[in-house]
Amino acid sequence: MQRGTNLARLGGYNQAVILDANRRAHEGIARVELVELTGLSPQTISNVVRRLVDEGMVREDRKAASGPGKPRILLKLEVSSRFAVGIHLDPALMTLVMLNLCGQVVASARYEMPAVPEPDGTARAMAGRVRDLIASAGIPREQILGIGVAAPGPIDVARGIVVGPPLLHGWEAVELRGPLHELTGLPVLLDKDVTAAAVAELWASKRAAPENFAFIYLGTGLGAGVVLQGEVLRGASGNIGEIGHFPTQAHGTECFCGRGNCAGMALAFRTLIQEGIDAGLFPADQGAADLAGTTAAVARRCRLAREGHPVAEQICPRAAARLGEAVVHVANLLDVDRVIFGGPLWDGLADFALPKLRQEGQERFVARAIHEVEVAGPGLGHEVGAIGGACLVLDHALSPKASGLLLGSQA
Ligand SMILES: [Zn+2]
Repeated sequence: MQRGTNLARLGGYNQAVILDANRRAHEGIARVELVELTGLSPQTISNVVRRLVDEGMVREDRKAASGPGKPRILLKLEVSSRFAVGIHLDPALMTLVMLNLCGQVVASARYEMPAVPEPDGTARAMAGRVRDLIASAGIPREQILGIGVAAPGPIDVARGIVVGPPLLHGWEAVELRGPLHELTGLPVLLDKDVTAAAVAELWASKRAAPENFAFIYLGTGLGAGVVLQGEVLRGASGNIGEIGHFPTQAHGTECFCGRGNCAGMALAFRTLIQEGIDAGLFPADQGAADLAGTTAAVARRCRLAREGHPVAEQICPRAAARLGEAVVHVANLLDVDRVIFGGPLWDGLADFALPKLRQEGQERFVARAIHEVEVAGPGLGHEVGAIGGACLVLDHALSPKASGLLLGSQA
């Protein structure tokens, strides 16, 4: 729990401290408990709470007195008083969600990205989809706190620009935050997709101890989001977690960096599909363009291996081993106690890879004598990136953590 400050100029920060305490107290919280928890003066608490009640974000709940004395007044967060929109931009898909103040999904939508991405039209398309989502949820626009965009890296957080992900052809320095703000009139935050996914898992976590985990995202690219001591780490420029070029066993598929042993390329959809074609598991015309079809093909490959298909049994462990190598380095570098996997490729690999990754973690995690490293699938499913986008907005509005203060909303 973050402590507050009684300096009047940090009213916004104190409000975040109080909202955060309210969010965590599911049964409601009394003013006196807020004083204890936050270290703020009763007067400061009273001022901020009055403002929050006036704005409809917090309500007072009068409990019948259980003994002599005045009835106890509990403060409860009005979870449906404000909402946040999250967008996950993947080279193949655009996923949108709307969350209430508790981080629950109240509306969602999913669209295939055009086969040839048109960067200039993307902000317009996003703005249109946001309007559709708000309209379909029937929520007044003034209750929308903002939009959080989770985009593939590298990104320029300060300028709100997607710099040019190697897998999004034709994308070079695409400005997203500014145009999306102009088109929707809403504040817009931008973060890397893997970091947003880590934010989402952190929000959803019910653990009491500070979290230490890496979120490994397997989609069109490979990346890691990092949470240490309960804080989301972003690095100097918001581009933490580029693990796609970690060296792994040579597999012969040349990466765009020029080498032939990069983990990201070893686990790319098209590499896995090509291996399946070469081994005679897939027809020669098995495409890798359609995400749903590709995920299904990778899942089929893994299922055949589990059923004892001799060829599949040979090639499937390779993908798990490549992933295991990269992940052991991440766990050892960061000393995390949990590695969470997610993303569209993970859906296909999970059943096959999870036991192998757990074994790898137990054998090669250096600090295993002190603590275990838990290896798990995502708690939030395929919408985790978009949920993370919306959580950025909630974090900014509700959470007093440093990470919420770093990313300024579009002025
Ligand atoms: Zn590379």
